[in-house]
Amino acid sequence: MGLLVVASLGWQAVRTGDLMLAETFVERSRVESLRAELAKRELAVDAMADGLEVAVMICDERASLQFANRAAREAFRIQDGMGRGILEVTLSYELQGLVQTALREGGVHRAELPFRFPEDRIAQVVVWRDLLDPARCVLSLTDITNLRRLERMRTDFVANVSHELRTPLTIIRTMAETLHDDPDLDAGTTSRYLERIVSEVDRLSMISNDLLILSAAESSPIRKQDCDLAEVVRSVVTQLSFKAREKGLDLVYEGPEELVLTANSAQMTQVALNLVDNAIKYTNEGSVHVSLASDGREAVLRVRDTGVGIASEHLARIFERFYRVDRARSRASGGTGLGLSIVKHLVESHGGQVRVTSELNTGSTFEAVIPLQD
Ligand code: ADP
Repeated sequence: MGLLVVASLGWQAVRTGDLMLAETFVERSRVESLRAELAKRELAVDAMADGLEVAVMICDERASLQFANRAAREAFRIQDGMGRGILEVTLSYELQGLVQTALREGGVHRAELPFRFPEDRIAQVVVWRDLLDPARCVLSLTDITNLRRLERMRTDFVANVSHELRTPLTIIRTMAETLHDDPDLDAGTTSRYLERIVSEVDRLSMISNDLLILSAAESSPIRKQDCDLAEVVRSVVTQLSFKAREKGLDLVYEGPEELVLTANSAQMTQVALNLVDNAIKYTNEGSVHVSLASDGREAVLRVRDTGVGIASEHLARIFERFYRVDRARSRASGGTGLGLSIVKHLVESHGGQVRVTSELNTGSTFEAVIPLQD
């Protein structure tokens, strides 16, 4: 009997042990599957964070980096930045200050901050303390450099337009007032004043015309179709040959009989017109040579003159709106300062590019390169 009791107790012990083992086994596999599930979710969250355009970072209570998504790693060239201070990673004292304030005070903190590293940029920054773990804070940075640049370009443009319009308007007003107030003005002065008024009115309509061309080119989608560029350039040369002859310049065209590409022919006419007109305007003696060529992939319109040339420090800026090397000369020759910016815009919106080489007092060569197909 005693033996039986011992045997039965032993059996029970074995069974309890098995059960514990089995329970431990079940427990362990549950933990493992939970761990696998957690790892999967972490990967999914990381992938989601990496897909964001906004840079996201997480810092611990010492303002050291714990996490940076792809946009943040790219923005600050972070290779192995985890554990490094936010100041060391971004070189921004302002950002470090914002992180420290968020960690200390909690809440959401916003600021528009400039960054110098790795290049000059402006970002809209939001920093907030993690609700689940107050010893951490989350940062989101949206790059608004382009937005601010466009805004500046727009305000500069409006300021430039007002300035350009104000000068002729002031002249017209002053001369008209003098004509009105002084009945004894001699006939010579009166006719000189009237001529000046007419020329300033012409100038205003040229500016408004160029502004309309620019605004139409920027706002409406380009309607392209088969366009014979050789025909376009030939007719521009014919149209301007009288102006060249008046200045005693040789205007020469060299190119194929036909060069068909997919383009907007009115805009191509504008490109050729502005380049050839400029070459005539800024050349006092010699020639303007216009050529057209193609290598089967792209067409190259080249306008070479023996004119005043452009000093190298101005070359990078002449395609900007209203930029003029010599304001008085441009004015005297009826320039608006918009011709080359129109050329650049039209050529680039056709997928092409403009180039210029020039030597002061020797001449300039402008090229418009346009792909034959879209
Ligand atoms: P503008 O109406 O003043 O000619 P553009 O935008 O056409 O304005 O040209 C900008 C400036 O570039 C001109 O004011 C002039 O200083 C310079 N420029 C353009 N084309 C030539 C050229 N062929 N030779 C010398 N300077 C040129």
